[in-house]
Amino acid sequence: MFENLSEGLQSAFKSLSGKGKLTEGNMRDGLEIVQKSLLEADVSYPVVQDFMAHVSEKALGKRVLLSLRPHEELVQIVNDELINILGPVDSSLHLKSEGPTIIMLCGLQGSGKTTTCGKLSQLLKEEGIKPMLVAADLQRPAAIEQLHVIGKQLDVPVYSEPDNKNPVKVCQNGVAKAKAEGARVVILDTAGRLAIDEELMAELQKIDKKVGPDQVYLVVDGMTGQDAVNSAGAFNESLELNGVIMTKLDGDARGGALLSVKHVTGVPIKFIGTGEHFDALEPFRPEGMASRILQMGDIVQAAREAHRIVDEAEREELEAKMASGDFTLDDFKKMMEKVAKPGLMGKMMGLMPGMGQFKDAMESEEAAGGIRQTIGAINSMTMAERKNPKVIDAQRRTRIAQGAGVQTPVVSQLIKQFEVMKPLMAGMAGKGVGDRMAMMKQ
Ligand code: GDP
Repeated sequence: MFENLSEGLQSAFKSLSGKGKLTEGNMRDGLEIVQKSLLEADVSYPVVQDFMAHVSEKALGKRVLLSLRPHEELVQIVNDELINILGPVDSSLHLKSEGPTIIMLCGLQGSGKTTTCGKLSQLLKEEGIKPMLVAADLQRPAAIEQLHVIGKQLDVPVYSEPDNKNPVKVCQNGVAKAKAEGARVVILDTAGRLAIDEELMAELQKIDKKVGPDQVYLVVDGMTGQDAVNSAGAFNESLELNGVIMTKLDGDARGGALLSVKHVTGVPIKFIGTGEHFDALEPFRPEGMASRILQMGDIVQAAREAHRIVDEAEREELEAKMASGDFTLDDFKKMMEKVAKPGLMGKMMGLMPGMGQFKDAMESEEAAGGIRQTIGAINSMTMAERKNPKVIDAQRRTRIAQGAGVQTPVVSQLIKQFEVMKPLMAGMAGKGVGDRMAMMKQ
C-alpha cells in the first residue's frame, strides 16, 4: 500500500541527505519529488498545493546545524503536516444519553455501506450497546436481504418493509420501532447509485430533513482513488456530513485519496475499513496513516528522540560556546553524558557538529565503555582543569587517572584529543555540512 508515495519520498530524502541546512535551493529537488509522489498517489492538485505550501514554510530556514541528516528533519516536517491535515481525531459516534442516536450511512453503491452497518453494530455490541439496523436501501435489489443476513450473524435486529417503496417512511417507522424497543442506536443503510445523480441526492436530503439523523457518515471506497474524492465533494455539497468512513484500505489502494477526501469534506475521518469481516473496522489514527504513507516510522521516531535529548536552548548554548572558543572539558563531558547510553550514541553522534562521521564507530558497546572512561576522567578533574587542561601536568594526570580508575594514558589521550578538537569545533560551529566537510579536508 502507498508504495509509490513512499518510494518517491524516500528518494526525495535521499537527494537531500548530506545537506546541512534546509534552504530553498537544496529543498527544491526534494519537495518536487514529494509533490509528484503525492499527485501520483491520487492526492488532488489543490490539496497537494496546500500541503506543499505548509511544508515549505515550516522547513525553510530551519536550522539543522547540529544534524548531519537534514532529510530526517524534512521527513519529520512532512510527517507532522500529514498528521495535521489528516486530523483531528474523532472516532466517537457521539451517542446521546437519551433516546436512540440515529446514524445515517450514505455513499455510492458498492462503497461498503451495508458491510459497514455490520461492522458498526459489532463495535457497539462490544461496548454493550444495543443497535438496530434499518434497511433503507431500496435501490439495490439484494440490499434488504443482505442486511438481514448480517443482522442474523450478529444477533442485531433489522427493520425492513419489503413492500414499501418510500425510504423516508421506512426510516421513520424504523426509528419509531427502535424507540419502542429501547435500542440506543439506529443505523440507516441508505441507497447508493453507481454514480452521483440528482435523484439519489434528493432522496438522501429528504431522509436527512424528515428523519433528522444525529450523525451522517459518508462511506467511500478507498480503492476508487480520484472517484472517491469527486463523490465525496458531491455528497458534502448536498448533505451536512459529520464524518467519513473509508473502506477497502486493506487492498493496494492508493491511500492518497484519504488526504483529498479529508480536504474536500473538512469532516473527520472516523474509521477505516480494512477487510470484509465485521471486525475489520479501525478507528482512524492520523499518526498510523502518516507513517504508513511515509513508511518511515523509525526515522521519524529517531529524529523525535534525538530532538528530545538535545533541547534547542542547550544546543544553541553549546554552539555559541564552540564558536567563541569557550567550550570546556566540562561541556564536552555534558555532551558525552548524553550519549553514553548504548544505542543512543550513534543517533546522537549524528546530531553533534562534525561528529556524524564517527557515528558508526560510536554504536559499539566498546565505544560506550570508552566514553564512560572519558566521563570518569573528566569527573576527577577540578573545575579549573576542565576549563584549562593546559595546567594538567604529570602529577595531576596521575591523580586524575587514579581518581577515575583508568590508566594514565587515557587521561593524556583525552587532553590531547580535546586540544585538537577545540579549535576545529570553533571553526565548525555555525557552518553547514558542506563547509564542515571542506574544512575537514584542508
Ligand atoms: P454497499 O452497496 O455500499 O452497501 O456496499 P457493500 O457493503 O455491499 O460492499 C460492497 C463490497 O465491498 C462487498 O463485497 C463487501 O464485502 C466489500 N467491502 C466492504 N468493505 C470492505 C473493506 O473494508 N475491505 C474489503 N476488502 N472489502 C470490503
